[in-house]
Amino acid sequence: MTESPQRHPHTTNNHGIPVESDEHSLTIGDTGPILLQDHYLIEKMAQFNRERVPERVVHAKGSGAYGTFETTQDVSQFTKAHLFQPGRRTDVLARFSTVAGEQGSPDTWRDPRGFALKFYTEEGNYDLVGNNTPIFFVRDPMKFQDFIRSQKRRPDSGVRDHDMQWDFWTLSPESAHMVTWLMGDRGIPRTYRHMNGYGSHTFLWVNGGGERFWVKYHFKTDQGIEFLTQAEADALAGEDGDAHRRDLWRAIASGDAPSWTLHVQVMPFEDAADYRFNPFDLTKVWPHGDYPLIEVGRLTLHTNPEDFFVHVEQAAFEPSNMVPGIGPSPDKMLLGRLFSYPDTHRYRIGTNYAQLPPNRPRVEVRSYAKDGAMRYEANRVGAVYAPNSHGGPAADTAAYGSPAGWAAAGEMVREAYALHREDNDWVQAGTMVREVLDDLARDRLVGNVVGHLRQGVSDPVRERAIQYWRNVDKDLGDRIGGKLNGR
Ligand code: NDP
Repeated sequence: MTESPQRHPHTTNNHGIPVESDEHSLTIGDTGPILLQDHYLIEKMAQFNRERVPERVVHAKGSGAYGTFETTQDVSQFTKAHLFQPGRRTDVLARFSTVAGEQGSPDTWRDPRGFALKFYTEEGNYDLVGNNTPIFFVRDPMKFQDFIRSQKRRPDSGVRDHDMQWDFWTLSPESAHMVTWLMGDRGIPRTYRHMNGYGSHTFLWVNGGGERFWVKYHFKTDQGIEFLTQAEADALAGEDGDAHRRDLWRAIASGDAPSWTLHVQVMPFEDAADYRFNPFDLTKVWPHGDYPLIEVGRLTLHTNPEDFFVHVEQAAFEPSNMVPGIGPSPDKMLLGRLFSYPDTHRYRIGTNYAQLPPNRPRVEVRSYAKDGAMRYEANRVGAVYAPNSHGGPAADTAAYGSPAGWAAAGEMVREAYALHREDNDWVQAGTMVREVLDDLARDRLVGNVVGHLRQGVSDPVRERAIQYWRNVDKDLGDRIGGKLNGR
């Protein structure tokens, strides 16, 4: 028996017109010139030339999935946000990423991981754009660009450079807590499924009675924390640069949906003034003993994207997307990010990026925005200005007129945060080294730091690094110095 040829649907061009051939361009005879009128060939070439959008400057390589967040506990005494009311289920898009590498870089480089969530709530999109770390390298957005450039590639050779990295870190002592974290076991998670996510910043929650609370978000992995040693990660980087992307996709495709349990730390509004650490400093945590974790609900990722480019590459997360009941705090890094994220999306994927499938809210949009490149949804509000007498929408100031905020007054200054009782750049890093890590984890930390500092770091920077580690913990710094200097 002969097999009957498989039947395919007919190819069309981008405008739905049936094409004549998938294989042959239009020529004068088989050796003749290609005709300019072969508009299908031209469409294919032109589309190909335009397939890429600029990659993100940071968090370029990522993986994403859709899922559900269910609020399993009652935290209504702290926030009126709909999505956090008991029993509510909300669709979510998650994107995990490395930070410094480009799109093709290995998933297992030592780096923090992005942990970005978009909740499609009944009150519009709520984005929590966090990391797998509760802290960060710098505390002022003025330094972010310099920090990232020091971690990426040299302007001359185009290679990454440990000398730049340590030069920046050792001249920026506020980085010590995060660098300790990064050089420790959690600096290379085994997979995206085996890491926690943190909102990292402090946020404001407001309940139905108008009471305010400061909060920090902790998404604890239900798969358990697992990590790769440096040697394992190096080997995997050569064998399968997409190991984490592949793992997440396969787990979800096989029905093994990963999940995380959300907890929050809640600080009464008035506590912030004299808490022992500045609660808005992104380089610090709130020790669990001071503000214990309160369970909120569960995030489950169960659906792979239908199209990676559409749903992951074009996903646009922005910390400025906050819904009623949730607001920012005086964390300067957060305040800087409120501007920079929407700005980067407008540049990278266009002014109407909010209409793209992963970014489109599930609720009706009644904004007065109009026009702009690639706009494809009509402005349906009935008028193009407000106020108007044509029945266009009007802001409901009675319901939504008080933004979640705080009182501020004083002279304009360029100053660091006021130091609280126990604040300095080294104290929490030292606590982690002495009280959280065990002997084996400390040994791996020393090994990771020494290995990193042996790769192209100049003598003066290396000496500064040894002192940096002595400031974190005298014994740790002596061990690192001893190994580097061959003692
Ligand atoms: P706790 O003893 O209550 O908690 C220590 C926390 O450290 C753990 O709960 C765990 O966070 C985290 N941890 C464990 N191993 C590692 C590791 N190898 N690398 C990074 N983090 C690890 O202590 P405190 O809350 O008093 O904090 C002490 C120190 O712990 C802090 O200075 C900070 O460095 C670190 N830490 C604190 C967190 C916080 O929000 N309080 C969060 C993460 C780290 P988790 O439970 O989130 O997995």
